[in-house]
Amino acid sequence: MDEELLKALNKSDILGFYIYSTGGYIVYANNAFCNFVGYTPEELKQTKLIDLIDESYKKEADGIIKRRLQGEDFVVELQEILYKTKQGFIRPAMNFCYTATYNNNYAGIVIVVDQAKQKIYEIFYRILSNINRIISETENEKEALEKICKVISEEKGIDLAVIGAPDPKKLSYKPLFAYGGKAYKTLFKKSKISIDPQKPSGRGTIGQAYWTKKIVSVGDVYKNDNLSYWRDLQKRFGVYSICSIPLLRYGKTEYILTLYSKIKNLFSEEYLFLFENIKKVVSAALEKFEINKLNRILLTAIDKSFDLTVVADKNLKIQFVGGRIEQILGYKKEEILGKPFKILIYETADESLFGFYRKLRKSNLFSEVALCKAKNGTPRKVMLQISQIKSDTTYYIAAIKDITNEKVLIKAIDDILKKDPLTGLLNRDAFIDAINRFIERAKYKKILGGVCIINPVQFSSINEMFGFEAGNEILKSIAKRITAFLRSYDVVAKLETSRFGVLFKDMSNTEDIISVSSNLLNLLSKPYKTKDGRAIQMIFNFGVSVFPVDGKTADELLLKAHFSLKEANRNSPSISFYKEEIKEKITKSLKIKMEAEKALSKKEFALFYQPYFETLSQKIAGSEALVRWIKEGNIISPIEFIPVLERSNLIDRFEKYIVDHAINALKKIPKPLKLSINITPTNLKNKAFVDFLTKKAGDFSKNISIEITERLLLENLSKAREILTQLKDNGFSISVDDFGTGYSSLSYISNLPIDTIKIDICFTRKMVEDAKTRAIVNTIIYLARQLNLKTIAEGVETKEQLEILKEFGCDYIQGYLLAKPMPESEFLQLINSNF
Ligand code: C2E
Ligand code: MG
Ligand code: MG
Repeated sequence: MDEELLKALNKSDILGFYIYSTGGYIVYANNAFCNFVGYTPEELKQTKLIDLIDESYKKEADGIIKRRLQGEDFVVELQEILYKTKQGFIRPAMNFCYTATYNNNYAGIVIVVDQAKQKIYEIFYRILSNINRIISETENEKEALEKICKVISEEKGIDLAVIGAPDPKKLSYKPLFAYGGKAYKTLFKKSKISIDPQKPSGRGTIGQAYWTKKIVSVGDVYKNDNLSYWRDLQKRFGVYSICSIPLLRYGKTEYILTLYSKIKNLFSEEYLFLFENIKKVVSAALEKFEINKLNRILLTAIDKSFDLTVVADKNLKIQFVGGRIEQILGYKKEEILGKPFKILIYETADESLFGFYRKLRKSNLFSEVALCKAKNGTPRKVMLQISQIKSDTTYYIAAIKDITNEKVLIKAIDDILKKDPLTGLLNRDAFIDAINRFIERAKYKKILGGVCIINPVQFSSINEMFGFEAGNEILKSIAKRITAFLRSYDVVAKLETSRFGVLFKDMSNTEDIISVSSNLLNLLSKPYKTKDGRAIQMIFNFGVSVFPVDGKTADELLLKAHFSLKEANRNSPSISFYKEEIKEKITKSLKIKMEAEKALSKKEFALFYQPYFETLSQKIAGSEALVRWIKEGNIISPIEFIPVLERSNLIDRFEKYIVDHAINALKKIPKPLKLSINITPTNLKNKAFVDFLTKKAGDFSKNISIEITERLLLENLSKAREILTQLKDNGFSISVDDFGTGYSSLSYISNLPIDTIKIDICFTRKMVEDAKTRAIVNTIIYLARQLNLKTIAEGVETKEQLEILKEFGCDYIQGYLLAKPMPESEFLQLINSNF
């Protein structure tokens, strides 16, 4: 190294620098290193390097020191070291060492980078992944807290971890779990702690954390007057750093996690945001923690050491290269010395050299994942840390770690940050991201989103009764059922404990959200099989909020969904929405569902019959069975209750009842007359129902027309064809109801075994004054005839409509003009008088 550089290092207050020589004594150290270990330069000169090194590294370090002093030239071998300071606390550092000569003796030259930062990220990374794991696999709150306390205490550097609960009435504090060294636990037990601000015992970090609801951290207890009350214990313990983290539930401090360490400034201000993350995650994983970019980068660099160091002068000309440059970039050292630093930088569209220099000039420490250019021109992904040191002249020291092949590590970190370990679903953070991304897109369109929190009621008792394993299996099954139910672009996540979150994207109205969530509720409520063959029945509650009505950010929507869930939990199983009007809709449909069940037993459903007529002769050609719910003298329209029944498992019973009554009525008609029966897609897709229908109809099937909706055709065409063919084979005829309102076209229908199309009432209504509609109706009728299909016009109310239909050649008409739906007796009378 040239003299200039040595001078620069000497003045650096970022990088520590020392030289050791004969006998292993330190012969030179710069101020930064003196500060780092807490000794004066004079004291250091009488100190053997080995005495500055922590026990755990001593043996290895001793070997290296000896080899260097014998003149062996090798680069850094032991990079991470724990130094022991004068005050007796421990400091982690990164070391870059080289063999050199000093006053004609062999010597070791060492550059020291304070590594507290990396260390803390490392610790944080492990704590966080452990907490994530614990939260996902532990149902019981206390158990989870205890486990969390324990894993934190197992981190090197953390000597004691305590979780306690404040009592706001008595202003007292009760430790619940304490893990760490035995001696420390004993000492902790002796310390009097409260949350009473009037007393010294309540003014410590725990008391402060309780009152401020904020993390309170102290880097040096001896410099903090609030903590002087415990001075004696602190000295016996040797503690320097304390950090109290309040764990909140719905804004209330339930517990306080306190960490104690003998390392000074371990929880310094700078790292508070990391502990903030722990606070959020542990606070029943209620809030998200944000991990900033730097954090991610450092996490990727956790894999300790750097591969290569490069020193450049103020003009960014390379002055020194150490480490594995040839393996990583393909250059020989000599090839690169004196060259501009930029030859190592790979320019991309996003990252220009100019940008790189600007960043570099702006700050003393540059730390990023960047691309380096290898000799053959290919990019290498590296973790690049550049420190700028200024003395008479400026130097740049770059520490480079090749992470080209560390995708696995990056992915692992990404997974920890985004995925729930048990189910593999997204975790809460990723869920929030997904909601925000959806909002970004949805706010410019007229679409709704439903955020739904799914709560399996009393899941903890499943764990208790069937064991942990079975509980986990069920959670996985729930995850599978939800995933299979959703459309591919919807989002499902595993939230805290046993809860799940779902985002229904791109919904066109709130009814759809009600409908999908209640279908999902039905699906989840089916029994779960355990490995040993037992069937477990579970109850679910859903709390739902709707974008944009209930909120315009993910946080807001989740909060409202939580509020809704609280309400749902009051009368499980249920689905609760946040907004009154949606709530009304859902209460209405729930009420209908409940009352419909009773109505079925009480036979409150009656069939009305509406005839239809030949258009030209106006003779009765057939009739349609239309259901009515007669409830306490009022008639409820099928439009209100059929969709509700269809979403519940009652539709099967209900339509069997209808079929039964309709066929009985048909048998009473003296002369064969066609009867149309409306059947929902749900039942048509059910083989058992179709079998029932066929059996019930027997020979009468030739007098029955099944009215289907276009929806049946849309969902799965080949399945629909199969069903219709079967019905045809059994003698039924088929009508397509409400033709023209859906997507089906005549060419589509011409390939299916269909006999009749019923032109929807809206065409009949509009065609009088609207020429376009008239043209459409005309075309439909014309084409239908070409395809051998009969046409029925629905909802004919006026003579004018009748005239137009006559002119167009529509086969049949149905509507109030000629007959309204009527009770069975009236209908039979009408028939009798007509024959
Ligand atoms: P849909 O099958 O299209 O039935 C025709 C609807 O139009 C009936 O309403 C009928 O009363 C009404 N309507 C008939 N002529 C006129 C008219 O001239 N003017 C007006 N404004 N309306 C007329 P309803 O009975 O309220 O039934 C509504 C829908 O409920 C039916 O539409 C059908 O989709 C469904 N539905 C009714 N009964 C059953 C049933 O037993 N099973 C099933 N699955 N669905 C049914
Ligand atoms: Mg109909
Ligand atoms: Mg219709």
